[in-house]
Amino acid sequence: MKQIIRKSDKLADVCYDIRGPVLEEAKRLEEEGHRILKLNIGNPAPFGFEAPEEILQDVLLNLPTAQGYCDSKGIFSARKAIMQQCQQRGIANVDLEDIYLGNGVSELIVMTMQALLNNGDEMLIPAPDYPLWTAAVSLSGGKPVHYLCDEQSDWEPDLADMEAKITDRTRGIVIINPNNPTGAVYSKETLEGIARLAEKHDLILFADEIYDKILYEDAQHIPIASLTEDALCITFSGLSKVYRVAGFRSGWMIISGAKHQAEDYIEGLNILSSMRLCANVPSQHAVQTALGGYQSINELIASGGRLREQRDRAWELVNQIPGVSCVKPRGALYLFMRLDPKVYPIASDRQLVLDLLRQEHLLLVEGTAFNWPRPDHLRMVFLPWVETLEQAIGKLHHFLQHYEQ
Ligand code: PLP
Repeated sequence: MKQIIRKSDKLADVCYDIRGPVLEEAKRLEEEGHRILKLNIGNPAPFGFEAPEEILQDVLLNLPTAQGYCDSKGIFSARKAIMQQCQQRGIANVDLEDIYLGNGVSELIVMTMQALLNNGDEMLIPAPDYPLWTAAVSLSGGKPVHYLCDEQSDWEPDLADMEAKITDRTRGIVIINPNNPTGAVYSKETLEGIARLAEKHDLILFADEIYDKILYEDAQHIPIASLTEDALCITFSGLSKVYRVAGFRSGWMIISGAKHQAEDYIEGLNILSSMRLCANVPSQHAVQTALGGYQSINELIASGGRLREQRDRAWELVNQIPGVSCVKPRGALYLFMRLDPKVYPIASDRQLVLDLLRQEHLLLVEGTAFNWPRPDHLRMVFLPWVETLEQAIGKLHHFLQHYEQ
């Protein structure tokens, strides 16, 4: 008899449920001819958020010269522009060699974990998180340890919980700021607190700042790397969200702070980045123009701007559903809403999302997919036009009125 071909044991604890089994069901329903409203993925372009024209022009213009591989860390113009941005933001002591371009932040997240972790090493990750972080730690043989973010305090990380979970196996702290899925933008006080913890316990800071310019009202983003020179800090950002070209797969990471302590780890990062030869070259040509050009994202988030209006309206409507509440997001593209367990005693939020999909043809993501410990949250993307959001939240309202598990 033929052997069953199995996946590797390394994948035993790896999951990425944003594109998981529920999406398969959505595809099946689409094949049956149903139209599914997909508010599950933060992908701006399909909702009519077009990239700045000058970025597209730059990629087209440079296409003929972008046919070959480039330096493993990326092309000069992109790294130079990122370096200058570090200077403007008060991230000290970054030179070209500290900057790596990747095929999206996603690739670099996996790379940084693969290069660092030995079996059983621990990584502090927020709950809720962007689940790629947890998956990358597990894939690398590490142990994800989740610290809580506090819904009562606008989803700021609970520093006492974070510190209590540090052990002699802990290697680093991941922060996502502005946050996916909660929309929190961390205060200077919180960031200072995290930086001091990293310094005290000799931990690496991994700062996922891919939403750094998607901010509402008076929210201000402070790069944690600007608050420490004594801890090693790796900051991640990219073109997918702020510049709306998620399909270009272009992101970067910046190493700052205690680099002198990390020569061996940096050698590991260099090995992995050269093993994948280089990141997609044509899209790297967008980086200099993106960072140095007209910041059209500011129009979208300003009062009266499209993203801002959608956030306001979606947040208002979601909070009108009985038993549903949502902290107002101050950054990013998502509402992370709470279903009061007294009103909705749900055993499985995955089942709820499946039932919502089948009954209303609306696709959201369950909170537990973000490693949130209880089945009492849902995440919704507020990228569609207001009319579509109104329709979607109307469907959710209607569904919840009759829902029982
Ligand atoms: N980090 C966070 C917090 C995200 O929300 C996402 C995408 O949704 C990514 C990283 C992945 O970004 P990229 O498209 O650069 O791989």
